[in-house]
Amino acid sequence: MTTTKWVYSFGDGKAEGAASMRNLLGGKGANLAEMSNLGLPVPPGFTITTELCTAFYDNDRQYPDDLSPQVDAALAHVGKTVGATFGDKQNPLLVSVRSGARASMPGMMDTVLNLGLNDETVLGLAARAGDERFAFDSYRRFIQMYSNVVLGVDHHNFEEILEYYKDEHELTLDTHLKADDWRDVIARYKKRVTEELGRPFPQDVNEQLWGAIGAVFGSWRNARAETYRRLHNIPESWGTAVNVQAMVFGNMGETSATGVAFTRNPSTGEHAIYGEFLVNAQGEDVVAGIRTPQSLTKKARLEAKDNKASMEEAMPEVFDELIAVFARLEKHYRDMQDVEFTVQDAKLWMLQTRAGKRTAKAALKIAVDMAHEGLIDEKLAILRVDPASLDQLLHPTLDPDAARDVIATGLPASPGAASGEVVFSSDEAAAAKSEGRSVVLVRIETSPEDIHGMHSAVAILTTRGGMTSHAAVVARGMGRPCVSGVGSIRIDYKAEQFTVMGVTVKKGDIITIDGSTGQVIKGEVPMLQPELSGDFATLMGWADSHRRMKIRTNAETPFDAATARKFGAEGIGLCRTEHMFFDDSRIVAVRQMILADDAKGRRAPLEKILPMQRDDFRQLFVIMKGLPVTIRLLDPPLHEFLPKTPEEIEQVSVSTGIAADKLARRVQDLHEFNPMLGHRGCRLGITYPEIYEMQARAIFEASIEAAKETGEPVITEIMIPLVAMKAELDLLKGKIIAVAAAVEKEKGTKLVYQIGTMIELPRAALMARQIAESAEFFSFGTNDLTQTTYGISRDDSASFLNDYMAKKVISQDPFVSLDTEGVGELVRIAAERGRQTRPDIKLGICGEHGGDPASIAFCEELGLSYVSCSPYRVPIARLAAAQSALSVTTERDV
Ligand code: ADP
Ligand code: MG
Ligand code: MG
Repeated sequence: MTTTKWVYSFGDGKAEGAASMRNLLGGKGANLAEMSNLGLPVPPGFTITTELCTAFYDNDRQYPDDLSPQVDAALAHVGKTVGATFGDKQNPLLVSVRSGARASMPGMMDTVLNLGLNDETVLGLAARAGDERFAFDSYRRFIQMYSNVVLGVDHHNFEEILEYYKDEHELTLDTHLKADDWRDVIARYKKRVTEELGRPFPQDVNEQLWGAIGAVFGSWRNARAETYRRLHNIPESWGTAVNVQAMVFGNMGETSATGVAFTRNPSTGEHAIYGEFLVNAQGEDVVAGIRTPQSLTKKARLEAKDNKASMEEAMPEVFDELIAVFARLEKHYRDMQDVEFTVQDAKLWMLQTRAGKRTAKAALKIAVDMAHEGLIDEKLAILRVDPASLDQLLHPTLDPDAARDVIATGLPASPGAASGEVVFSSDEAAAAKSEGRSVVLVRIETSPEDIHGMHSAVAILTTRGGMTSHAAVVARGMGRPCVSGVGSIRIDYKAEQFTVMGVTVKKGDIITIDGSTGQVIKGEVPMLQPELSGDFATLMGWADSHRRMKIRTNAETPFDAATARKFGAEGIGLCRTEHMFFDDSRIVAVRQMILADDAKGRRAPLEKILPMQRDDFRQLFVIMKGLPVTIRLLDPPLHEFLPKTPEEIEQVSVSTGIAADKLARRVQDLHEFNPMLGHRGCRLGITYPEIYEMQARAIFEASIEAAKETGEPVITEIMIPLVAMKAELDLLKGKIIAVAAAVEKEKGTKLVYQIGTMIELPRAALMARQIAESAEFFSFGTNDLTQTTYGISRDDSASFLNDYMAKKVISQDPFVSLDTEGVGELVRIAAERGRQTRPDIKLGICGEHGGDPASIAFCEELGLSYVSCSPYRVPIARLAAAQSALSVTTERDV
């Protein structure tokens, strides 16, 4: 029988694992091993692998037989290293049990500290430490945590008992309780556990250990973890690891402490350590908000106007050691680290390190700085920034010159600004979002149960908690502006309002949050458009020099086109001409045209539209100055333009002189059951050739005018939508060429243009070889291609796609990220077959997917010439294209 290695030891300057074994050991375990190998002070321990988690679930939640002997051996080894024995009355080994998946995941089991304590071992601990208060404090923490996390006894029970005890004895702080106090509290805790569970708190240390291990593996499939995985696309098959580690104690008095830190500022990227610590405390105290943490550096303390000593001042030697460890870690991992540490009696212990989460702004600064410092090269810098996160910087910020009615100021926990209606619960936030309203979630503090609400809100405000509180960390990860710890605000959940300095803000009132300054502002504040400068511009420049694909934009208005140019677009990949028809000044003429009985009746309104379209195109050509512009001829079903209300029909009747009832009948005639598969796209051009002829003329005349105006030749690409057959394209291409010839003759110039087609129907993809005989370029319209491949209407899919995701029928919305397997296969086929006919055929993508990093990577793989996306996604696409050209997946830390 072969045995599997389920357990990997670390500590004491060496480890069986390493950072590269993240998939097997989870992020926490792999990095604990790595730090041990680096010779950093890590309390010894062992990791039970993620494979065990998978085996556990595959085997009806049973452990394999060979697990327990491996755990026993590893635990004995830990005991030997620290000179203590698990369960020993005189000299007990205490451990923490910590979960750790590949990607760090809120929603997993909370860490249990001080495991191995019971009524007997606590006496041994007290004797060894010479400190009864410390031993009993540790024991009560353990009972509290274990009962809550493993046994499911609500923590309110313990808080209540402790509060009551403190009131009874007129004590204010936990640190005021003496050994006897804790002994008393422990007795009450145990009594409550027995009442709640009908059985006593477990005294058997092995039962404690296996209970905690089981709870970690069990939590992999709890509801919170599942939600988080769904939101972040983490597969269930990954599993979590369990880390069991010898305890070190930050609660051993004034020379002990516990803390968390980032090696650089995760909000701004500034190269200065950033974090908090607490003297005489254990891990969870820093984030729990029970006591206010202290600054690490003197500088930070002065900035916060805090009078409690910083770590730099209170423990200068340990602080220096910590700084040296940070430098070592950054040099080794070549990235900003987020670390957790504990000081036991003036000795530093490292408990965790991982790549630190950061805002997009910080990510850019850190990547550019590290490249300048020589820690990483340009390529790695490009790979370090998550393209999707740039979205955060591409949003408007508060206009600094606008008036602000600041009602409170808190901590600038996550940068960015947003305005919205106040709501006080996460469920309400989610409900409002689904109605399309923007809301600011206002809470005393947030917990993992609030993830859906935080996701739905445009900004988050909490009255409690620091820069490393749950709200702050999660908001930064999600890119939501957040102001935390606004102590001056009093929330009344019942009355659904908050008050601050005499101002009352009710549910539904609008407030603005500035997460960069910590300001809370009454009402809405005007915003400024984002710009590309500084580190952002630097990194974009590097990205440009490493990408192969061109980036174009989908734009039809001069404003969008100009915005896209500013963000670096290299042309227009999709100009939807119908958007120009909806304008109030034109819609009547458009309706007149559609409702006309025959070609003759259509000519007059088309004559009216022609100069307007010509001017639209001229402006776009001028803005794009010599860059290619792809213009799609009229595409949507005509019903979109039809008059619907009697008033609208009346309006058309007046302007055309056609009787209203006759018009109403014509509207009836044009009704379609399934307009998206109806009379649209090139089908319109075939039945109403005058429309496409007018558009072609507008394009050609505009190109001549724009070329004169800018002195640059105009590169026009005319695109025919919804082609399924080569014959459709041939017919229309003939008409367009005829218009071109006519314009050339009239103006006495030669036109340069290409005629191509959208590939957005499966038949077109399959027939690409034939279609390419006529089409000079293909543009993949992946929105329609997704609709027609799946047979799912995008506009109607919301009602069931969410269910599909929840029930794991699909893992991603195919309208957001290209289904590379199915729809992608059609794209691949079309690209291949198109190239067989026309080896240099220009290929691009213009669906929504053109701005999605994963879809962009697929386009790179197929060797497409360009992607086209909405203006605000152009920088994202530039970076994503560079990353896919470097063809390495980002080593991003989720
Ligand atoms: P999380 O994943 O929620 O950060 P951790 O497993 O990192 O949970 O544990 C949280 C905190 O508990 C740590 O930051 C540390 O302060 C404390 N802790 C965990 N293990 C130990 C240990 N062996 N000794 C002392 N403190 C520990
Ligand atoms: Mg941690
Ligand atoms: Mg389409």
